[in-house]
Amino acid sequence: MGNGGTGCSRCSQEAVYLQRATGRHLCSAHLAGEVVDRVRRTLAADGMPPAGSLVAVALSGGKDSTVLLSLLQGIARETGELDLVAITVDEGISGYREETLRAAAATAARYGVPHRTGSFAGLFGRTLDQEVTGQEHRACAVCGVLRRKALTILAREAGADCIATGHNLDDEAQSVLMNWLRGDRDRLLRDPLQGGQRGFLRRIKPLREIPEKEVALYGVITGLFTPMPECPYRHAALRGEARAMLNAMEQRFPGTLERLVQGQRRLARGAAGQIPAPVGSCMRCGEPATGPLCQACRLLEEGCFRPVRHR
Ligand code: SF4
Ligand code: ZN
Repeated sequence: MGNGGTGCSRCSQEAVYLQRATGRHLCSAHLAGEVVDRVRRTLAADGMPPAGSLVAVALSGGKDSTVLLSLLQGIARETGELDLVAITVDEGISGYREETLRAAAATAARYGVPHRTGSFAGLFGRTLDQEVTGQEHRACAVCGVLRRKALTILAREAGADCIATGHNLDDEAQSVLMNWLRGDRDRLLRDPLQGGQRGFLRRIKPLREIPEKEVALYGVITGLFTPMPECPYRHAALRGEARAMLNAMEQRFPGTLERLVQGQRRLARGAAGQIPAPVGSCMRCGEPATGPLCQACRLLEEGCFRPVRHR
């Protein structure tokens, strides 16, 4: 990332980062400033939660969510209009989760933000490790659906008005590519920025326009975290392939991630109203659902998990 003595494109300081998509070199201060500005712009564009809202920040303890909590805490302190609660889900991934859980608790304490935790084992009866033994390629798909469910349960228990997650531009682009690879028309045409429909807790993604590298560098520059272990399933699933493919494409054709995400948004806007919104409620948990069961309860029904507790 460093580029040997090159000056920042915005001042005379030494650059620490080449933003390949724009061709600009940035010093630490300007890179950090741009990250903060982009988060503010994203929140303004997507609709800042109304004054008095309690925002549940999904805090895994990794770099994205640590940066997210720090930035939202800064905005909450400055405006005096938002309250935060950190929520952490322990999926039950041995050798990885223990350290990040400790980091999450320390981060919440450092910012004086109340912290709630829940686990797959406690909420659903089994750990992720137990659920995907012998089927490790399913890990991220199972983990994603159940973590979403667990975060919703924890956020509702905390009385939150919305959930903020640390998805960055790379995560968003990977999801778009995976939806193409799976041929998932509904997800491709659904506007990911639409949230808070009937019965759903609104979700916001303040880091969604910031590349993973810039989030990581922001964390290093501002002294927010030390390197954490990687999830052992990270490379096993389709997402790992999508990540590798997109990283190679971005390296050769800078701006690929952003164009992929923007293209999907244009498709979704063009298809507005074509994708049916969930109209019923899940028989098990009461969350909105298109059929008798929501996605999480369907998955739990197929596996050996016990049903989600009722709201
Ligand atoms: Fe879950 Fe996959 Fe992320 Fe690991 S890499 S925490 S399994 S989504
Ligand atoms: Zn359900």
